This record gives sequence, structure tokens and C-alpha cells, in this order.
Amino acid sequence: MLSQSLEQVIRRLDGAARAAGRTRPRLIAVSKTQPATRIAELAAAWAASGARPAFGENYVQEALAKQAELSSLNVPVEWHLIGHLQSNKAREAATRFDWVQTVDRIKLVDALARHRPAGRPPLNVLIQVNIDDEASKHGCGPGDVDALAEAIAAQPRLALRGLMVIPFPHPDPERRRDAFRRAAALFGHLRARHPQADTLSMGMSDDFAIAVQEGSTMVRVGTALFGPRVRPA
Ligand SMILES: *Cc1c(COP(=O)(O)O)cnc(C)c1O
Repeated sequence: MLSQSLEQVIRRLDGAARAAGRTRPRLIAVSKTQPATRIAELAAAWAASGARPAFGENYVQEALAKQAELSSLNVPVEWHLIGHLQSNKAREAATRFDWVQTVDRIKLVDALARHRPAGRPPLNVLIQVNIDDEASKHGCGPGDVDALAEAIAAQPRLALRGLMVIPFPHPDPERRRDAFRRAAALFGHLRARHPQADTLSMGMSDDFAIAVQEGSTMVRVGTALFGPRVRPA
């Protein structure tokens, strides 16, 4: 039952936050590879608890298809793009998502700002930082955050909300703690210049308790909610 896994994850988040003396982070349910029927089931259970369900998707096309299937749902759902965004998908991302967590270059800032419809609230944006400096991964370098933040803050159609990181997936989650710490320090620097930045998105199914201890304000959880993915993402 999805409602049970949701309750369990929320309880574990509460426990981790309380133990660390922090407020419970926002939960984003990562629904990549999951069919719209399962998203609808989780959204209903979640909305019944009084919160606004939020789903994270990695691919624009996959998300658009599910949004179309879910359009008859009576539950308002918030959509987060958490996968790498190609510039040629910026229009759809700016139109169909509430948050884009993977902004890592100036070109994307300009494209998202240009395409965010005037009648909508500003698009919420997180800067994705490559916190472990892996050559093959997406995200900007820690030294690029300042310039990107300035560019985003200068766009009225965008709201600079903070940072997102995906540490190197060491099999032992404890070894990701140092990356979470560095991300939290970077977030502190960002907030000193941009106090409106209130979100540090870090932590997944197997490490969210550690991320919360280190100051995460938003966790992205897939497997612990939906079970193992039926196909690789
Ligand atoms: C898949 C994914 C997650 C969720 O991973 P789980 O281990 O299933 O919780 C979180 N963030 C990003 C960016 C992802 O791609």
C-alpha cells in the first residue's frame, strides 16, 4: 500500500529531523518509471493527509505524458524536474513544471526565463552543483554558483530557491556525509547573498537521514515510496 510507505517515510523523516534538532524537510516523491495510476494513488493518499503532493520526474517527455494522464485528477500536484535538462526542452520545462532543480548553466537560465508564461508565478529554480567534481556528471562547479545565482536573481520570471546536489553514490551512504556538509556550507554562502534562497535539495531513499542531519530542507525519495523501479531510469 502506497499510503503505508508514505506514512513510513514521513515518520522516518520526522524522526531524523527531530534527532538532529531540525524541521522536517519537504518530501518530493520521485516517480520516474512509475505509471500514472501509481502516481494518482499516492497523490490521493498524500492529499488526504492535508499536504500538497509533489512529484519529481527526470525526463520532460515522460513527465508530460503522465501529466496528461493525470489531468482529470482532482488533486493539485506540484511537479519538479530533477533530471538533466537540454536547452531544446527548456520551453516545455518552463511551461509544465513548478520547479526545475537542475539549472547548471547560464544558457538554461535565459531560456527558462524567456519561456515561463506571464500568467504563472515565477518558475522555482535550484542550481544543481556537482559537489563531488565528477568529470562525467551534470551540475555546475561550486565556483560557478555565484554567477549563476546572480543571473537567476536578475530574472523576474524565475525565483532563485537554492541548491540541489547528488553526491557520488558510495555504496556506504555514510561516505556521502562529507559531500552533504560541503553542500550545506555552499548553501550558507548563497543565503548570505540571496536570503530568499530557502531550499537545499539533497537526500534520497538510502541516505535521507544523513542528509537531514547535515541540513537538507528537501529530500527526493523514489524507491522507499514506490518500491524498486520496474525498469532502470
Ligand atoms: C532517481 C532519483 C532520486 C530518487 O532515488 P531513490 O534512491 O529511488 O530514492 C532522487 N534524485 C534524483 C535526481 C534521481 O534521479
